[in-house]
Amino acid sequence: MATIDGLPPLREVIAAHGLSAKKSLGQNFLLDLNLTAKIARLAGDLSASDVLEVGPGPGGLTRGLLAEGARRVLAVEKDARCLPALEEIAAAWPGRLEIINGDALAVDPLAHLTPPIRIVANLPYNVGTELLVRWLTPKTWPPVWDSLTLMFQREVAERIVAKPGDGAYGRLAILAQWRSDPAIALTLPPEAFTPPPKVHSSVVHLKALPAPRYPADAATLNRIVAAGFNQRRKMLRSSLKGLAPDMAAVLEAAGIAPTARAEEIGLEGWCRLARMIAGGEG
Ligand code: SAM
Repeated sequence: MATIDGLPPLREVIAAHGLSAKKSLGQNFLLDLNLTAKIARLAGDLSASDVLEVGPGPGGLTRGLLAEGARRVLAVEKDARCLPALEEIAAAWPGRLEIINGDALAVDPLAHLTPPIRIVANLPYNVGTELLVRWLTPKTWPPVWDSLTLMFQREVAERIVAKPGDGAYGRLAILAQWRSDPAIALTLPPEAFTPPPKVHSSVVHLKALPAPRYPADAATLNRIVAAGFNQRRKMLRSSLKGLAPDMAAVLEAAGIAPTARAEEIGLEGWCRLARMIAGGEG
């Protein structure tokens, strides 16, 4: 059957290159090129952007990104078995696909790509959260990327977009929502993947804000949020004890009840508290 880019269907690619999925590398492949094109479209107009794709595997999403007009794609894949299949895609799209065989945690996209950069990936579950946290905590802000369009396990996606009072609300929500606008764009059942994972997956689209949503020192915010959510059942006056000489008074001054729990405090409240603790204007 002909495909949009003239390359073989992904099932044939996998058979031809012996790409049996490895659990240790989080390999759950998307084989439906209509679906991978749809995911590529969730990243918006790619014609004026370079794209970083982590974990292209046999290249379904890579083909979607190129077919949807990505200016250039840098695909970083740890599994060397996938390289011949990816080279075939590069040959079909001359000058538009660069492939690196390596660990995405060790690659500096700026050494290969020109901003604006969009990051689009069906992430391996074992390093997905770590990569997201790195992208959200660069040394300087705004970051090198404009947007992230990332497939996670649905449970992780829900933690990224959670609001105060949700069971999933915690550090990841605060980190993501402080510096970006995250939204779940698509949820897929296990059967959409080969082999099917145990759980549903969701694509989260995060657009970088030009500046953090509320002023706060990143290290202080991270410290108090970590302390608050590490003991999420405790009242803040006790979970944050030790971060200021009279924590109850600092909480009161920030307009937060000392008896409140971490999951009740919105992003603005956490940032206000971070400013008070860092000795700012409050
Ligand atoms: N993009 C493909 C798709 O949608 O069908 C494959 C997605 S699969 C969920 C994750 C991919 O990430 C696998 O190809 C795996 O080999 C690769 N991978 C795992 N750990 C990696 C790492 N640290 N750096 C780069 N790629 C990695």
